[in-house]
Amino acid sequence: MSDQAYFSKESLYQLAGRSFAAFLGFPDIDRLLEKSTYFYVDLTDESILFLHPESKMRSMTDVSAITHYSQICELMTHCMDEQCSNEIGGRLTAKSLIEEYRIGSRFRQFLFTCKFGGVPGKKQICCDLSEQDGRIFGLFLICDVTDVHDTDIKLLRRVEFDGLTNLYNRSAGDLLVLEYLKNYPQDSAAIVLLDIDHFKRFNDQYGHEVGDVVLRGTARQLEQYFGRDSVIIRNGGDEFLILLKHRTEAEARDEVRNFSNADHSIRYQERTYPCTYSVGFAMYPEQGREYHDLAMKADVAMYTVKMHHRNSYLQYRPDLLLQKRTQLSFQLADIVSGIPGAILVYKADEKEEILFANDQLYDLFECDSMEELLSFSGDSFKNIVHPDDLDEVEASIKKQIDSNPFGLDYVSYRIITKSGKVKMIDDIGHLVHTPKYGDIFYVFLYDREQKADILRLAGLEE
Ligand code: GH3
Ligand code: MG
Repeated sequence: MSDQAYFSKESLYQLAGRSFAAFLGFPDIDRLLEKSTYFYVDLTDESILFLHPESKMRSMTDVSAITHYSQICELMTHCMDEQCSNEIGGRLTAKSLIEEYRIGSRFRQFLFTCKFGGVPGKKQICCDLSEQDGRIFGLFLICDVTDVHDTDIKLLRRVEFDGLTNLYNRSAGDLLVLEYLKNYPQDSAAIVLLDIDHFKRFNDQYGHEVGDVVLRGTARQLEQYFGRDSVIIRNGGDEFLILLKHRTEAEARDEVRNFSNADHSIRYQERTYPCTYSVGFAMYPEQGREYHDLAMKADVAMYTVKMHHRNSYLQYRPDLLLQKRTQLSFQLADIVSGIPGAILVYKADEKEEILFANDQLYDLFECDSMEELLSFSGDSFKNIVHPDDLDEVEASIKKQIDSNPFGLDYVSYRIITKSGKVKMIDDIGHLVHTPKYGDIFYVFLYDREQKADILRLAGLEE
């Protein structure tokens, strides 16, 4: 039976880990696999699709023919010492593994001490779960780790794989891509770069746990669509890089288009989270021979998609403007710190709690940081305004907001700085309803004296 019929060699390599093989002293990963037991199972009906090495596995038991995963499960549990069999046995059943897969955990790793043959030894079971046509499949690898410390085993996995998604991490993945490009100079391949659209919203609206579920779900979708003959890397954050090996330009485009057109909604705890992606790709060798160059071109294509409404894909073309990438990487923080005026955001409720202030606002009050401003102002807009002006200012804001349909207001008042200086301020406010904070005020504050200086400089004195 050919293993290629069911799972790729790469998925087996990924399960074992190249660094792990090197750490155990094997000259390459194939030697480790030769010495290990691995099998591929349809966990939905528990049928065994591949077993290596059959003879060794069968000699470990009286059962003349192993055909069912529950038999292997029983055999593994039987080899464990009592404590391990109590702790791990139940987690290895097909039912338990399928449940784990459903909540997003594809890779499982178990360590157990075996009582086999009277010689205490330690084994590792790694399991890679995947889904095809609604059925869950498990690729299992059992290897001897008697002489390896438990902590080393866990750390070694982190050397190559991202802990959250179990995809290659950037440093290990980059090496594999470089190795491929070096070994296949005549081949045609694609470098695909993909970023989740508005990913921060998942974190902000539903919490980091949902953000993590979306990242894991994305990893599974990538494996499903691009898993054949590829290297899939979590580049960092919500960005992924994929090497599609041995693909013509038309094949790569078809695959990327299929992925981009599909529905990638993620189900979690009875809710559906719609998820879209911006994807860019570049072809090897026509559009570049250097990995760095190809990745940069895929990045330019991806960011062009980001600028044009996201949720689509694009192949690199020389006319795509590199400079646009710079515009997009210009962060909100860069903007608010450079704006010629103070910005304040506060809740439009009784407490009027301050949610945000930029550097210019600290300066206005002669404070050195947000913390200092918050403690100076007691965390509330009420203490920003001079106490003698407060009632009038609040009444005026309310009157204006109630009478104009845009939620805009304009007021002037005095403030007292940290050193006791009194300044006259012009304030333009905008009341906005947000799903996260409810009603909030966005406010621009101008120091009258400073405004007069600027007008003088511009030759526009009042
Ligand atoms: P855009 O459509 O422009 O890509 O917008 P975006 O919201 O996706 O923006 P960006 O790509 O910059 O957001 C990445 C965010 O991912 C920022 C960071 O807080 C979050 N993040 C990074 N790593 C993790 C992680 O491991 N788990 C979770 N939950 N969030 C992460
Ligand atoms: Mg993103």
